[in-house]
Amino acid sequence: MALVHHPVLDRDGGIVATSVTNLDVHDLARSARTYGLAGLVVVTPIEAQRRIVERIIEYWNEPAHARRIPRRREALELVRHAASIEEACALVGGVAGTAPLVVGTSARPDAGRTGWPEARREIHAHPETPRLLVVGTGWGLADEALARCASVLAPIEGSSGYNHLSVRAAAAVILDRLLGSQGPEGAGPQVG
Ligand code: SAM
Repeated sequence: MALVHHPVLDRDGGIVATSVTNLDVHDLARSARTYGLAGLVVVTPIEAQRRIVERIIEYWNEPAHARRIPRRREALELVRHAASIEEACALVGGVAGTAPLVVGTSARPDAGRTGWPEARREIHAHPETPRLLVVGTGWGLADEALARCASVLAPIEGSSGYNHLSVRAAAAVILDRLLGSQGPEGAGPQVG
């Protein structure tokens, strides 16, 4: 999964680079670990921001801190950083041996979105295919980021007209729909 800070939209639809927040990195790393992802790549073109990510990683690799919350270290050791989505793809490709399929996300319903059951089936039918799930910040991924995706998932829709999930909440819901043990029918853990 890639947590993307550029190119994302601001409230006026302009393309900006948002700041990395410690809470996003921790929460998404814990979700990545929970759903068995290979890693979390924090994407920002700003070198000083990538140094912040380095500092978070270093802090949780220090024995004294790792001993304090070992489970947290298990999640934070999945974290990497990259200057762009392309660089994140190269990082994943270097590990997987082939470039990942980039899967985008957005709260905005648009034509051509991939439905959840289809996306889940595809992942489980082809577990050997590396994928990079891309989540945004700010007011969402810019069109140029979505255009880079092989597919874009349909939006999560609640049961009201309100749709302003944080990236932390959205990422957890998305991962559970795609990889959770309960499946789309919510039939409970697959037994037998
Ligand atoms: N309105 C923004 C948008 O269109 O994505 C929400 C931005 S939200 C703060 C940051 C990220 O969380 C989005 O880029 C997307 O990855 C994810 N996200 C938020 N709400 C979502 C939804 N309803 N469905 C799918 N992804 C969502």
